[in-house]
Amino acid sequence: METCKIKTLENNERMSTQQLLQTIYAKIEEGYTDFEIDACGQHNIGGSLWAREKGNKLTFKVTNPGQRVGSMAMAGTKILVEGSAPADVGWLNSGAEIVVKGDCGDTAAHCAAGGKIYVGGRVGTRSGALMKHDPKFNPPQFWVLKNTGSFSFEFMGGGIGVICGYGCDYMPSVMGERSCVGMVGGVIYFRGKIADVAPSVTVLPLDSEDMAFLDKGFDNFLKAIDKESLKQELTDYSQWKKIVPKPLNEREETFSVADFRRTNWVEGGIFGDFIEEDFRVYPLTTTGEGRLNKPIWNKETCIDCKICLNNCPQKAISECEKIYSSDDTKCIGCGICAAVCPRASWTMHSNIREIS
Ligand code: SF4
Ligand code: SF4
Repeated sequence: METCKIKTLENNERMSTQQLLQTIYAKIEEGYTDFEIDACGQHNIGGSLWAREKGNKLTFKVTNPGQRVGSMAMAGTKILVEGSAPADVGWLNSGAEIVVKGDCGDTAAHCAAGGKIYVGGRVGTRSGALMKHDPKFNPPQFWVLKNTGSFSFEFMGGGIGVICGYGCDYMPSVMGERSCVGMVGGVIYFRGKIADVAPSVTVLPLDSEDMAFLDKGFDNFLKAIDKESLKQELTDYSQWKKIVPKPLNEREETFSVADFRRTNWVEGGIFGDFIEEDFRVYPLTTTGEGRLNKPIWNKETCIDCKICLNNCPQKAISECEKIYSSDDTKCIGCGICAAVCPRASWTMHSNIREIS
């Protein structure tokens, strides 16, 4: 089938993001697999789609996209952005190959869990943050020709970052400031100077396995961004190092949850009242002291109709000689009793105020 070409601005009429995505879905249903999209800022192009016929691949050639190009994009999808793209390129990428020939805005590859993201320019702040690796799949890869903004790769749990620092000799850090804070997994290869990385990571020289990985990866990366002529310059591995997280026992800053609660928790802050046991995870819906609200009954107005008793989802309400009460160990503070009572005899009160 021929390429499906979509122009999103005609006669000064701009297609909305929703209209564009619905057009794409409909065309995929018709059997189209190749798209050329002349966008004007529409979001989510190329995200979470699969081809109608098993085994088919979806390809998108995009100009002028909006945010989240290829967000949650799936294996079998290839996206090529001619030029630059704004924030969230490949957010939560699940397996697509995404190529941006120019720069990316903030949070490129944020939360990426699979696939490859190739960038022919720079990426903004918090790029690579929260990348992760599910061992059932190949780790996500994030290749950047130039540099990242600050806070890059924070809370990285897995995957591979490659920051080439091309043309960035003048910069104090090719990974911005405060990079790798909270990094617990994965590896970042970088070329050039870095500064102010988190103390919980360590910088090491490359070994032969690293060089073999990069050598192979560079062929695909540089081809994708039309910069094959740079291979010789970029594969001088004496200029490269890698960042990995330190093992837990080598980190200086670790402290227990108990210490954190005692020394850092904002007294009276959100949830602060409820954290009494360091290793207890509170359920989403909770009874007793953990409830946000609790019902209080007023005997003066009650007409003993039993509507509340019959509607409480927790069977928390009981009646004895026309006196109603709610069992704290069952009540979840949902407020249904107060809502159904024809006499407003139940009123909901903040449980936090009660216990503070
Ligand atoms: S607040 Fe909800 S759970 Fe609690 S007594 Fe009323 S209806 Fe039952
Ligand atoms: S619904 Fe209201 S009026 Fe009826 S029994 Fe319950 S508290 Fe009393």
